[in-house]
Amino acid sequence: MTTLTTREALERAKDLLRQSRMYDHIIDLMKWDRITYMPSTGRAYRANTSVYFSDKRVELFSTKECHELADKFRSLDASDYETDLERAVARRFLFNFNNANGTPAELQSEITRVQFENDAAWLEARRQNDYSIWKPVLKKYFDLKYKAAQIADPNKHPLQVLMNFYDEDLTVDECSRLLGELKTEMSKLMFKVLPASRDVDDSILNIFYHREKDIDELSAYACHRFGYTADKASFAKVVHGWSAMLSPRDSRVTVSKSDTGIDNFFTYIHEMGHSLYSLGSNDEVVEAGVWGGMKGSAHESQSRFYENIIGRSPEYWEFFFPFFQERFPELRSWNAKDFFKTLIKVNPQFKRTSADELTYNLHPVIRFELERDLFEGKLSFDRLSEAWNDKYEESLGIRPTNDLEGCLQDIHWTEDFGKFQSYAMGNIFDGQLLQGVLRDIPDFHAQVASGRFEDIHNWMHDKVHQFGFTYPTMAVMERASGEKITSKYYIDYMKNKYYSIYGLTD
Ligand SMILES: [Zn+2]
Repeated sequence: MTTLTTREALERAKDLLRQSRMYDHIIDLMKWDRITYMPSTGRAYRANTSVYFSDKRVELFSTKECHELADKFRSLDASDYETDLERAVARRFLFNFNNANGTPAELQSEITRVQFENDAAWLEARRQNDYSIWKPVLKKYFDLKYKAAQIADPNKHPLQVLMNFYDEDLTVDECSRLLGELKTEMSKLMFKVLPASRDVDDSILNIFYHREKDIDELSAYACHRFGYTADKASFAKVVHGWSAMLSPRDSRVTVSKSDTGIDNFFTYIHEMGHSLYSLGSNDEVVEAGVWGGMKGSAHESQSRFYENIIGRSPEYWEFFFPFFQERFPELRSWNAKDFFKTLIKVNPQFKRTSADELTYNLHPVIRFELERDLFEGKLSFDRLSEAWNDKYEESLGIRPTNDLEGCLQDIHWTEDFGKFQSYAMGNIFDGQLLQGVLRDIPDFHAQVASGRFEDIHNWMHDKVHQFGFTYPTMAVMERASGEKITSKYYIDYMKNKYYSIYGLTD
């Protein structure tokens, strides 16, 4: 055990966290460059450099001193620290220490090797539209991740160990309960809304294809109005949209290269929501090396608040529709209310990434439940494809007729497990945050309708953004909203929204 005092140990931990964030900065900047402007001839050397810096980052937390610091922090109670930030420094030090030392080196290199196989098998299975090609490799990869999770913490649900990498304090039990409620209610709402929603003619949305420049410029302007102003904004086109959290004051938005019409407008807003969170850490939090914001569900709550709660509200389109009308003369005979209806038309489909706001919720919950059942041994890989299709039929009323429409949809399981819950939990948090916003800013909706976003920007900054990693996911959301997390507020928000559009009642 180290002879350092608690204060001295915290100073050392802060210094190590700051250094590790510099490695993050380099690694993420290299990733941003790789997916944006790097020519393909740069790939091989870049891969070596990225591995070098990732190894350096692991080494930083693998020294004898770090083992002593970890022992020291493990021996202390929460009451031994003076501030929440001190507790966060100890917590984040242990988080990094455990990630660097939790998996034996041999197992880690086996995981990395099989991950490449897994990715290749998934691509081949998609090419041939046949899950059975992927199955044996996916199972092998799953077994290795399961083993790593058990070594890291034999007393925890293995899926929880993996989930906690993104959402430090989420439990499988709590997710099962909250997401189960969400699935039941959203499925019910979907079946109720569907007959009326089917009649909405949304063919007007086709005018947004082949008009990328207009969509890009309107999107950049929308982001500017939300507070992602020119001095901090950066936009680039890539294969898959991403918000690159590079440094405390540098977070870059990337959006899809493909012509996705008005979907890209919402991708811009989504990724910008992530960036506003990443950029908002206060100076003390930056100095302590815990800047940027909780990964996973908390980050998703921010991107989705701007994308859905604001961006897909009738009030927002009261404000922003004239800007679209100016660019697209085809819209001049439309009113904002009817146009808004086309934007939130309910349309159950197999693809998660292009789902509407309502049915979107069901996709990640189905995946979370399948993951949980696999980790609990209640579902075998032999039955995965069928179980996937059963769940789609039950919740969305549509049954995939082949594996491409079914369990070959997402790339996630070629990389990791324990991430899907974050998309749906982010929505649940948004219901909760909206409740807090309306308590503190009673004229919030009127402000949105007139394009005033300063109050909401400041509210998110004060309640969520400024803390970076200071509090884990559930804790920061409970503090921000002032209540325990429940699915009720989000479910009420969705019901109100769709009931009022279609004149429905319970
Ligand atoms: Zn996101």
